[in-house]
Amino acid sequence: MKIGALKESYEGEARVAVTPSSAAHLRKLGHEVLVESGAGVRANFSDADYEAAGVTIEPSAQALIGAADVVVKVRPPSDAEIGRMRAGQTVISYFYPSQNAELLEKAREQGVTAIAMDMVPRISRAQKMDALSSMANIAGYRAVIEAANNFGRFFTGQVTAAGKVPPAKVLVIGAGVAGLAAIGAATSLGAQVYAFDVRPEVAEQIESMGAEFVYLDFSESQTDGAATGGYAAPSSPEFREAQLKKFRELAPQMDIVITTALIPGRPAPVLWTRDMVEAMKTGSVIVDLAAERGGNCELTVADERFVTDNGVIIIGYTDFPSRMGAQASELYGNNIRHMLADLTPGKDGVINQNMEDDVIRGATVTYDGDVTWPPPPPKIA
Ligand code: NAD
Repeated sequence: MKIGALKESYEGEARVAVTPSSAAHLRKLGHEVLVESGAGVRANFSDADYEAAGVTIEPSAQALIGAADVVVKVRPPSDAEIGRMRAGQTVISYFYPSQNAELLEKAREQGVTAIAMDMVPRISRAQKMDALSSMANIAGYRAVIEAANNFGRFFTGQVTAAGKVPPAKVLVIGAGVAGLAAIGAATSLGAQVYAFDVRPEVAEQIESMGAEFVYLDFSESQTDGAATGGYAAPSSPEFREAQLKKFRELAPQMDIVITTALIPGRPAPVLWTRDMVEAMKTGSVIVDLAAERGGNCELTVADERFVTDNGVIIIGYTDFPSRMGAQASELYGNNIRHMLADLTPGKDGVINQNMEDDVIRGATVTYDGDVTWPPPPPKIA
């Protein structure tokens, strides 16, 4: 089969779905690899780098879509991109099917098989293609770099001839994949890190990374606000009150707050309120990784950085993985090639769309003229 990577049409997107190294793996599966000219430039991969890896460069999106059997990309396909695809063709990309009913319908009408990288079931066997995790890991790391870049002080404590510097205090709210990556990056820069999650089972992970788990003064237990199947559920009003009370205590002490709290299928819970921002010191930084889903901080504006009247910097960028385009492409390219390895079990360049396979079934959102989302629950864990 011919696997073709489009240049991302979304303005400012730096990622690309195939890298020269992932192309080499795809070729070992028996596939031919095509890339649209310039697709890798913003991730530091030139057309010549791809050609050296045995990739054919196509001059335009139209030429690439015309030549490829399987189109791979990062962002959901645009209307124009889906419109150019033909029956029997496959597209593999993010799709966000719950928010993109029209796009799904269009893919179905065109007879395209759509495989959504954001719908890969989060089971152990599928970790190698779990793009949500690989991108969340980058976002968490980059959130700390962004915070450090905006904070006018050291993260690490120092005793120097010119004076003693205390370590920065960093609070990470939500310790899923992004939150744990943020904790790792902040502790490695020498900050004193505190972290909170409604899932008490993460306390051990937080502590093993050298951060302090923030316990609540809550009569039932920390578990009330948690948790079904490893994910968070909405908290009870009492739990939420205890959580906000604790955050109000912490607000004046924290230099950096990084929020990553999400509940699947819902808007982000508001956990860092206006009065908490007002209680923070001038020069403190908030990075809100939940900005795209409404934000964990009451004042966050998606895609913007601004400074409040009391001098707190609030960052609501929604493109953190793209801000590390080379790294993100490397990991996403690996996620894509592992998906294609599962789709090519014979390593003979032949795609087997095995709808009995939980992972393939879970990620496939249109197939054979039908919308196949949402999938049935996976049979294995
Ligand atoms: P996520 O992005 O959905 O949410 C981020 C974090 O926010 C979660 O840890 C959640 O508990 C927390 N949160 C929600 N509401 C909160 C609140 N009110 N206050 C504080 N924190 C709050 O999470 P994620 O990174 O996708 O990970 C979620 C779960 O999925 C974890 O258990 C993770 O280990 C699991 N996971 C499993 C796999 C796998 O393949 N086995 C892969 C990835 C993630």
